[in-house]
Amino acid sequence: VSETVEVTCAGCGCACDELEAVVGDGGLERLTSPCPLGEAWFTEHAESAPPVARIEGREAGLEEGLDAAAEILGGARLPLIYGLGRTTIEAQRTAVGIAEAIGGVLDPAGPALDGSAGLAIQTVGVSTATLGEVRDRSRTVVVWREDPVRTVPRLLGLLGLDRAGREAWEGGERRLVVVDAERTATAEEADTFIELPAELDFEALWVLRALEKGAPLVREHAEALPWAALEQLAAELHDCTHGAVLHGFGLSGGAGGWVNALGLLLAVRDLSRSAHVVTVAVRKEVNAVGAEDVLAWQTGYPAAVSFARRFPRSSPGEFNGAALLARGEADAALVIASDPFGHMPDAALEHLRGIPSVVVDPSATPTAEAARVALAPAAPGVYREGTVHRMDGVPVPLRAPREAARPGEDEVLAGLEERLRRQS
Ligand code: SF4
Repeated sequence: VSETVEVTCAGCGCACDELEAVVGDGGLERLTSPCPLGEAWFTEHAESAPPVARIEGREAGLEEGLDAAAEILGGARLPLIYGLGRTTIEAQRTAVGIAEAIGGVLDPAGPALDGSAGLAIQTVGVSTATLGEVRDRSRTVVVWREDPVRTVPRLLGLLGLDRAGREAWEGGERRLVVVDAERTATAEEADTFIELPAELDFEALWVLRALEKGAPLVREHAEALPWAALEQLAAELHDCTHGAVLHGFGLSGGAGGWVNALGLLLAVRDLSRSAHVVTVAVRKEVNAVGAEDVLAWQTGYPAAVSFARRFPRSSPGEFNGAALLARGEADAALVIASDPFGHMPDAALEHLRGIPSVVVDPSATPTAEAARVALAPAAPGVYREGTVHRMDGVPVPLRAPREAARPGEDEVLAGLEERLRRQS
């Protein structure tokens, strides 16, 4: 007997919650209309699961795995807790408790994967909106250094920004503008493509601010900028009534990402004095925003938080997970639902490989493969319910179309926290 149940996809920051799954006696049979990324995410979690616990490559029981993990983390001088973007709010709260119990440094993978927008928002604030508002109101939408067609495949469709959606929009003429160094798949969908070298993001954003404010500009100082296109964009955003800038890691990630994120937030703030202009960071991990929200609720800071002195302190350059590893300061790591082997710089990975690590992740990642202790809970969104914060900050419930005997991430982390608090 088969039944159709509603499911939420946790494959990316869109957290699509209008999908349906057909579940039969043999388990998940098929899904309605996910994208290729979502299909891969469901298939990976629904069809196989790593052993519930492995210690130095040997399969073990969960209790034994938790004991071994507690021994590693409880004995460390400065453990790093890293990741969190693909787990639930409930598990993220427990991770903060673990960091507090062991005096560790806690850093979500978000800044390394999606850029520093969350940190910049705490500094200068943000004019933002839900995806629903962008879909219904934004006449001009700029996608700045992100390729959502490839990274978050349903986003343009959900926002009515694909060609058919723009033509059918009831608010009048609607335009999609892409700013990037080269023509991406999203640029092929756009009405206007502005070619801008990556190193000129900050200058271009500052020019938009100056144009909006009518400040004098000396063009000879930045001849490489596409002046005509920027003037047209500034005028369009000034006149659009409602506009939006969706930006990605290409803008707010890497070495200059923090400054670029500040430049974008300030430019949008200036533009929003004449029209309602908002910005939303495109997040690849389903709950990257939730990780920053939970940290901010519980510690006052969205990322890079140290409990080494038993109270929370944040210093993004100092307590950034990759920086802490690259300096060789962390002597153990707890990686939660993340694969730093896939995105961290080499210097950080070299140190991570040399220290004992514990991975809590339902996926069989290279990081889990290399860990001293790997714990594989039941995957949220397939076997366990939970809550995530979509890329625009809206809470979305994950459903559990299948049953599993093994516990979920929050339960595994709670077992670890309990052992660590007993030790301390
Ligand atoms: S866009 Fe993202 S959340 Fe939506 S179905 Fe695709 S992978 Fe899943």
